[in-house]
Amino acid sequence: MNLLKKDIIFSDVNKLKGVGKQLSKYLKNKKIEKVKDILLNLPYSETDRSRIINLNKLEIGKIQTIRVIVKKLNFPRIRNLPNKIICENESGKIEIVYFNSREGYLRKIFPINKWVVISGKISFFNKKYQITNPDYVTHLDKEEYVRQIIPKYSLTKGINEKKYRLISDQVINNLPDVQEWYESHFLKKNNFLNWKENIVTLHKTKDSQNNSSRTYKRLVFDEIFANFLVLSENRKKIKKNKKNKFFKSIISKKILENLPFKLTKSQKNVLEEINLDLKSNTKMFRIVQGDVGSGKTIVSLLSIANVVENKQQCALMAPTEILAKQHFDLAKKIFINTKIKINFLTGKTEVKKRKKIINDLENGKLDFIIGTHSLFQKKINFKNLGLAIIDEQHKFGVKQRSELAKKGGNNCDLLLMSATPIPRTMMMSLYGDMDISKITEKPAKRKKIITLSKPEKKINELWSFIKKQININNQVFWVCPLIKESSFLDYSSAKKKFDIINKRFPNKVGLIHGALDKIEKEKVLNKFLNKEIFILVSTTVIEVGIDFPNANLIIIENANKFGLAQLHQLRGRVGRGDKQGLCILLFKEGLSQNAIKRIKILKESDDGFYIAEEDMRLRGFGDIIGYQQSGIKNFRFADPVVHEDLFVLAEKYIKSIDINVNESKYAFLLKLFDKAEIINQDID
Ligand code: ADP
Ligand code: MG
Repeated sequence: MNLLKKDIIFSDVNKLKGVGKQLSKYLKNKKIEKVKDILLNLPYSETDRSRIINLNKLEIGKIQTIRVIVKKLNFPRIRNLPNKIICENESGKIEIVYFNSREGYLRKIFPINKWVVISGKISFFNKKYQITNPDYVTHLDKEEYVRQIIPKYSLTKGINEKKYRLISDQVINNLPDVQEWYESHFLKKNNFLNWKENIVTLHKTKDSQNNSSRTYKRLVFDEIFANFLVLSENRKKIKKNKKNKFFKSIISKKILENLPFKLTKSQKNVLEEINLDLKSNTKMFRIVQGDVGSGKTIVSLLSIANVVENKQQCALMAPTEILAKQHFDLAKKIFINTKIKINFLTGKTEVKKRKKIINDLENGKLDFIIGTHSLFQKKINFKNLGLAIIDEQHKFGVKQRSELAKKGGNNCDLLLMSATPIPRTMMMSLYGDMDISKITEKPAKRKKIITLSKPEKKINELWSFIKKQININNQVFWVCPLIKESSFLDYSSAKKKFDIINKRFPNKVGLIHGALDKIEKEKVLNKFLNKEIFILVSTTVIEVGIDFPNANLIIIENANKFGLAQLHQLRGRVGRGDKQGLCILLFKEGLSQNAIKRIKILKESDDGFYIAEEDMRLRGFGDIIGYQQSGIKNFRFADPVVHEDLFVLAEKYIKSIDINVNESKYAFLLKLFDKAEIINQDID
């Protein structure tokens, strides 16, 4: 057979021999659409058909291979009775059983008194060994094809091993050489095989069953590297945008003096990094990472002050109306003695006001606009937008981010803020296209939240405690467990809890859950903010970012259903004022060792980054809520916990080489992992 052409690797599987419409459909169910998907569909085990087993040494239930003489074919004329072929050799006798098989076909493959090789699962019935519907029957001249250790792939209806082998052999045995995309010294140093040899070995040996074999590791590395290539390319494209603005950093003393507190060292450092970006002649594309309560808002407002002093406009976007409103109120307070003109725009802003705001933005009468998504409508044009800030947007993927970078034109700097702590090794995979600033400390006076755990059956001990809290004007969050992914079940469990609590504290309780629409949600949250209610029962929908300075107690039911990072985020809702915050984790009886470990970590640490890393170690990466949408789950082979070292290695390597992503060797790699389209997308 000829070697496959390179471009066949990226065409549809139906380009292969023997793959028609029906089979394509079955393969598609296994996510095998292109020829290259066959390469990436690794065997999970193997079947040893290589050894010929004596008939007196057969093992029932095992797949084995025998070499026998066909003695007799038996075709009963009664319906539903199977056809039987009696075979034997010097070591014994065996029956081969067929349901629903044509006589002519069986006579052809089982010629009387001839030797055949048969491979299939051994059973024992009526004191006789049997093989029912064997996987392979062949004459001796072709036995080599059967007598092998054959890789086992996860297959579906319509495709059996024999059929799949015909397809995968065409690909794996005929791979073309491809130009290596790594430097040879790098391959050598890491004991990596070249690409072709590597992928063939993965299919033909047990290596694919061991995620730290050197071949599996090279595949993982390829995947990580492809991912990093995309990000670094995205970054290069963004950095190509030259800004044309004159900038002096002049945070006004007036504003700093007006702050009710001193900035932390970390806040100052981040501000300095932002200032350098603002001054530079390339576009800022930066994310500020800081744990809940680390004080990101003030950093963003001070950067804005800076830009406005330089006669440019700014926009601050928040994911919810309430959060935007809180930012607006804070901005008004902080900018009170300045000339900065601020306004507020959301989907709810009434038409007349909206028109005026849109006008003012176009004329440059407004310096600073705060709002929700509505800020990014097409209708809205700025006179000279210099800085756009997006709060709490850790969920944006690479593609959306490059879209964002386009908004506001070349002269507009872009700053994102996120409270989702990302383990260190994951930074590059998530934000490799951006510059990253970290706020690593919390305001000094902030008290560490006290975290306690309690068995659920002692829930009654809580009521008097809650009563005391309410009497001293403290507010309480009550988080109900997430029940699978059903918002209805979530709702009903939260509703039940609401009824129970509402009976004890009539008119003091509110309920918020995923099925409420945005407006209803905000209504309840506002009631809580305005202290019309004191206990807020909720599913996990409590919005990130909102400051509830008066909430000091959070109770989390069935806490083992949550990841550490998520528990940490939840408890970050309380203790934001000057009172002591308290978090009570309720558990069902009989905690596992793992659960005990997790509580211990939470009790001991309030460092979101540390907690995120521990969470990842304890639970594996897949479950960590908040990362799911981030795109990082798109890794098919790489596991951030198991392959941590490869992530680190990839980061080092990509920084050490000079890459022109348009080289064809990279195109091959990117196509292999479906990344080529992202990179071709033009963003300037
Ligand atoms: P996040 O980083 O979660 O967005 P915020 O910006 O909402 O945090 O700040 C949380 C609280 O901390 C706010 O009430 C804010 O006024 C306060 N804060 C911010 N910086 C400081 C500081 N340097 N010292 C004291 N309090 C601060
Ligand atoms: Mg915030």
